[in-house]
Amino acid sequence: MFLRFVPRTFRVQMALLFGVISLFISLPAYFYISNQHKAQLIEYKRETLKGVTNAAATILTESLAERHREIVLLTQTPSYQKSDFRMADVRASLERVKQSYAHYSWIGIANAEGLVQSATSSHLEGADVSKRPWFQEGLKGPFVGDLHEALLLAKLLPNPSPNQPIRFIDFSAPIFDASGRVKGVLAAHAHWQWAGSLVGTMAPIHAQRDGIDLFILNHKGEVIYPEKIPEKLRVPSLDTLSNSADKKFVSWGEDKLYLTTSAAVKTPASVKSLGWQVVVRQVDTSVLTEVKNLERVNLFTMLTSSIAFLFLAWIVANRISRPVEDLTRTARRIESGEKEVGFAEKFWARELQRLSDALRGMSNTLIQQREALAQSNQELEAKVSARTAELQELNITLEQLARTDALTGLANRMHTNERLAEEFARFKRSKIPYCILMLDVDFFKRVNDIYGHGVGDEVLKHVASILSATVRKTDFVGRHGGEEFLSILPMTDSSAAMVVAEKIRNTIESTPIGPVGNLTVSIGVQEVTVNDINEDVAVTRADECMYQAKKSGRNKVISNGRHVALLS
Ligand code: GH3
Ligand code: MG
Ligand code: MG
Repeated sequence: MFLRFVPRTFRVQMALLFGVISLFISLPAYFYISNQHKAQLIEYKRETLKGVTNAAATILTESLAERHREIVLLTQTPSYQKSDFRMADVRASLERVKQSYAHYSWIGIANAEGLVQSATSSHLEGADVSKRPWFQEGLKGPFVGDLHEALLLAKLLPNPSPNQPIRFIDFSAPIFDASGRVKGVLAAHAHWQWAGSLVGTMAPIHAQRDGIDLFILNHKGEVIYPEKIPEKLRVPSLDTLSNSADKKFVSWGEDKLYLTTSAAVKTPASVKSLGWQVVVRQVDTSVLTEVKNLERVNLFTMLTSSIAFLFLAWIVANRISRPVEDLTRTARRIESGEKEVGFAEKFWARELQRLSDALRGMSNTLIQQREALAQSNQELEAKVSARTAELQELNITLEQLARTDALTGLANRMHTNERLAEEFARFKRSKIPYCILMLDVDFFKRVNDIYGHGVGDEVLKHVASILSATVRKTDFVGRHGGEEFLSILPMTDSSAAMVVAEKIRNTIESTPIGPVGNLTVSIGVQEVTVNDINEDVAVTRADECMYQAKKSGRNKVISNGRHVALLS
């Protein structure tokens, strides 16, 4: 559908084609690269989180080992082995050790029976700690105890956060006398703030902004740091955590998913393992923000390169189609008859060069043919007009011939009838009469019979010439048929006409012709009358007069029964 609206120009079609191709290539590339980048970025984030986790676990491990080592070393103080624990210098040494490390809340020594002999700030001195795990374990060897709430010391120590119980982890070790028997147990309670301060130093600077949380779990998987956690929070099982490399994000019982890594906190080799884990999580939205930014950059890059490709295709198509359009324009100008237009000489492509040469050749041929055609047209037109003039002349001649008697050169019967009609019409208007002379050669048959038709023809010509010569120029003479002639004498009454007729009769009679000698004619004369219904009436009457002349001896002129002699 859409393609119907795309202009069918080479330029647009090519740009579109390349645009579609570039999209077909770059879209899968975009998805592939985006996915690769996403996977790499998530992996990188996981590695970063893992680094933080490992560092936190290491620092906890080292700090535990350091405290442990400190306590074990303290038990080896020579004066402890020899002297009474209740000596003031013993307490002073304990105080010094406590001062050396901010998180020691209490350090004390109990004798082998579990009675506290000496302690920092004299706290619990005299108290029975024989049931305390640190004492019982401490009798056997070095011990690091899991996190627990302060019992006996709770009331004696200031609590920095009154809403929460004071919690400790314990370090203890036996003190031996010179003979190697257990003389007592030295113990230190480290405030749990210790963990917080260590983890705090390990957390990334933008932990909060980046949605990164650090947790310490005990061997049961319970959160022991931080002290307060949201109610909904459920720590993923250690199994899930160890497999979380496969799954990208795991649930913590909350709405969000987290990228999660864990590392074990190692307990010194000589003591029972605490089984702690450091777990660090980062909320997926924080991780994916960067992924989304990266995707946006990728998409932008892809679109820009597609548009650049499209633009390039447009330029290339333009470069190809422009010369073709130029050639078309030139061809159109030549087609419309423009002269002095030529096809371009040089082209960057051989095909275009050949096309231009071919078009030039074709247009030259066409121009030559057009000129030749114009010239032959001109010649043809000249010939046609010459022929037309000839034809016109011939037509005039033909018309004359059609109206002329071939033998005598007088008007023929058809022409005579026309003239009769004209004269009658004129008479009807003007009332000026005209006369008809009907003339017939006497005994003409004999001429033919005696001298032959050739002589007969000559006689007819002779009579005709006398007739023409005798009447006025304005009078009309025609051959009515055979050896009969008809003359129209306009504006002439019958008396004047009879004079003319007599003159004719006399001239013919007195003019001999060839072997025939003298001839005579009979003439009937009639004047047209207002009662005549048409031009033929007067002719018939003249004819009748002419027959009367025949009947009454020939060589006569008769008008209305009157012989011309009567007039004279
Ligand atoms: P009439 O005195 O009664 O008129 O006698 P006629 O012999 O003249 O009359 P008729 O009508 O008997 O004869 C007329 C002849 O004229 C007959 C015909 O052969 C001849 N004729 C008619 N037209 C021509 C022509 O063009 N040439 C020649 N040679 N003869 C013609
Ligand atoms: Mg006759
Ligand atoms: Mg006759």
